[in-house]
Amino acid sequence: MVKETKFYDLLDVSPDASDADLKKAYRKKALRLHPDKGGDPELFKEVTHAYEVLSDSQKRGLYDARGEAGLSDSGMGGGMDPQDLFSQLFGGGGGGFGGGGGFFGGGGRSQGPRRTKDLVHRVNVTLEDLYKGKTTKLALTRNISCGKCKGKGGKEGATRTCPTCNGRGVKITLRQMGPMIQQIQSGCDECSGSGETINPKDRCGVCKGKKVVPDKKVLEVHIDKGMKGGQTITFRGESDQSPGAETGDVIIVIEEKPHDRFKRQENDLVTEAELDLLTALAGGEFAIRHLDDRALLVKVHAGEVIKNGDIKIVRGQGMPSQRHHEPGDLYIKLSVKFPETIDAAAIPLLEQALPARSPVETFPKGIAVDEVEMDDVDLSRSGPGGSSMRDDDAMDEDEGEPRVQCAQQ
Ligand SMILES: [Zn+2]
Ligand SMILES: [Zn+2]
Repeated sequence: MVKETKFYDLLDVSPDASDADLKKAYRKKALRLHPDKGGDPELFKEVTHAYEVLSDSQKRGLYDARGEAGLSDSGMGGGMDPQDLFSQLFGGGGGGFGGGGGFFGGGGRSQGPRRTKDLVHRVNVTLEDLYKGKTTKLALTRNISCGKCKGKGGKEGATRTCPTCNGRGVKITLRQMGPMIQQIQSGCDECSGSGETINPKDRCGVCKGKKVVPDKKVLEVHIDKGMKGGQTITFRGESDQSPGAETGDVIIVIEEKPHDRFKRQENDLVTEAELDLLTALAGGEFAIRHLDDRALLVKVHAGEVIKNGDIKIVRGQGMPSQRHHEPGDLYIKLSVKFPETIDAAAIPLLEQALPARSPVETFPKGIAVDEVEMDDVDLSRSGPGGSSMRDDDAMDEDEGEPRVQCAQQ
């Protein structure tokens, strides 16, 4: 059983994936998400970091046992430059895509069709919506092939090779830098890098020769019950169209909004509840508003004593699980609210109900016993009785360690 699955989810593999599965999954994702390919740099970084952790057996063990928090506690959370890891894995020195040089190690994809950029869109989803599932509509504007000229930009045969760049789509500028001449390559402005131009009078009236027109599209995004932050929903071929190029995808990245009453730990939920002293000691009930249109009425049985800081579990009331249909659990951190004062006349009843007072420590003869009074402490004031009083534990941390280290080196 692993503690968290976020890194596995980022790579779209299950927690029992083998090293080979992981590598394959990362390769697939990284190729798609690489910033040189128009991928989202943040998502690429996250996926790379996930792979970096899971491909190291020591880090993976730690992550499985203690999650991301375990990694940062042990100082293993820091990542390497994603580009470095990527290059290291797939050979090739920081070059790029698209060159004929087989950057991807003979994958056969070296000179595939040009592909338009993936459109990555992050959506913030409330915990309520991740609990219940939701379908939202997302409107986006992308370029589609112009219907009037069928993506040609003008009349049949009107396109000609761009005279400025001779159809190469780039122009080379020479610049004198002291004794050296530097060659600067940039996209051709005349043809916007396409290598072709159309005579102004032959240009399509709808797209003005651009071959594409903006188009509004509404996508229905289905957020499944139990989805987690970092998961993606892909709409294949819904990105910008460009004549002669494969159309990229629209990738929706789920971001989980923090909730004010519930914390999510994988499929479990953690919440807090405050009980009055009578309920804590003598039983009763309290209510928790859940993430859907329900509230939970929780019973505290008479005779059971709830202590301040107790943690209880309500089984099956956590998040629904996407994979196993088995919901997580709800953990409740309980605190007990004590009354400020109590009616002295009722004390005999308490004495009857509660265990007897602990006997006061006695001292040998020769120890003088002084009777004193306690007053309230003003915690807002600094000083010996103020906030510093609670830091006692910090003093003990270094115990057992030499105070002076590496004095001679
Ligand atoms: Zn040109
Ligand atoms: Zn057109």
